[in-house]
Amino acid sequence: MKIYNTLSKKKEEFVPIEEGKVRMYVCGPTVYNLIHIGNARPMIVFDTVRRYMEHKGLEVNYVSNFTDVDDKIIKKAVEEGVDAAVISKRYIEECKKDMEAMNVRPATMHPLATEEIDGMLDMIGKLVEQGYAYKAEDGTVYFRTRNFKEYGKLSHKNLDDLQGGNRSLLVSGEGQKEDGLDFVLWKPKKEGEPYWESPWCNGRPGWHIECSVMSKRYLGDEIDIHAGGEDLVFPHHENEIAQSEAANGKTFARYWMHNAFLNIDNRKMSKSAGNFFTVRDISEKYDLQVLRFFMLSAHYRSPLNFSAELMEAAKNGYERIVTSVGNLNYLAGNAAQGDMSGEEKKLLAEAGNFEAKFDEAMDDDFNTADAIAAIFELVKFANTYGNEKSSAAFLTALKEKIVELSDICGLLVEKKEEGMLDEEIEGLIEERQAARKAKNFARADEIRKELLEKGIILEDTREGVKWKRA
Ligand SMILES: [Zn+2]
Repeated sequence: MKIYNTLSKKKEEFVPIEEGKVRMYVCGPTVYNLIHIGNARPMIVFDTVRRYMEHKGLEVNYVSNFTDVDDKIIKKAVEEGVDAAVISKRYIEECKKDMEAMNVRPATMHPLATEEIDGMLDMIGKLVEQGYAYKAEDGTVYFRTRNFKEYGKLSHKNLDDLQGGNRSLLVSGEGQKEDGLDFVLWKPKKEGEPYWESPWCNGRPGWHIECSVMSKRYLGDEIDIHAGGEDLVFPHHENEIAQSEAANGKTFARYWMHNAFLNIDNRKMSKSAGNFFTVRDISEKYDLQVLRFFMLSAHYRSPLNFSAELMEAAKNGYERIVTSVGNLNYLAGNAAQGDMSGEEKKLLAEAGNFEAKFDEAMDDDFNTADAIAAIFELVKFANTYGNEKSSAAFLTALKEKIVELSDICGLLVEKKEEGMLDEEIEGLIEERQAARKAKNFARADEIRKELLEKGIILEDTREGVKWKRA
């Protein structure tokens, strides 16, 4: 499996630190509003990376933060006259709903900045102790960028080039910096803002320090993959490297992955330009599986253009897969049972080529565009060879192949069966009988209620327990 590493600007063979395990950190959103479709791209892309790695048998520890203290959150809280925590909690919940609708799995861990302040104080303290950071007169703690000799290695900038843009880096209120390249680790509180006590001043953390701290806490000093949108390369990820490597004395992340921008109608998305869409806006018009399909139809490192026409094309593409799976299901339901014919076995082996193509594309830096093309070839093959004369076994095997590959991309192409399966119901009835035998009537009753809630009615008869759907 090869991954394009922003650090080396090359595709590199992926070798995890610990065999069979992947430690992966993906920078999450700042939660002050509903997420927009630009936020959705890294979520979908890196969820797909995770799914593919799991498909290859790797165990992925996937950590993604929510930035829940930030100027924008505070601004919104002031506007609404509520606590900042009210705003961040609300939008974390909304974000999770969108993620679910896009079939983005929850991370192994979703840490919150406000719950990791102790770790940030530790790391900042260490950096101050080592001379990598200093406190200015007003209590702000800055990272002394020039002391970290490798600064610029990720964004491939050198300090002298940055020096040229020095002035623009001097943000107002940061006049007490020793050097324009220095960045904030901790800043004093302002009136009405949330704050925490620290050895330097009552205040709150800078943005960059949270990821360094959460990554260390949940994944260790050294991790396999750190990922996010390409707008994070500089300065966010560059600063994370400086903080972590200075504090821990170890390589922070081995592979740095960045997804490219999303444009709308060939222009940068912006509220002022009127071409700004939240994921919720899109969900009013499309199933979010279509948005997911659209995002994966391009390679993650290619800029992606969002337009009404392209979304329609994505809808057609996605539906082609769904329809094929539905047809195979229908045909299998009416087909002859029994073994596959020799010819069918041969065809099924041939269909294996599309799976190999899919894997080859994904192994090449997660080329989802080519991987989806392989799914389409498989769909075409299934539509050609699966018909009324096919055996149920053959039709089902074809369907399962399509569903499996789609599932690696996180595309839900098969409608989940409504309600409970017969086996599940019968299992619970057996458990209820055992509970009654053991005179555990509370549990027996609980099971009866549980089934009733799902529309299953039990009847105790002389011949035993009978059940029916309501
Ligand atoms: Zn981050």
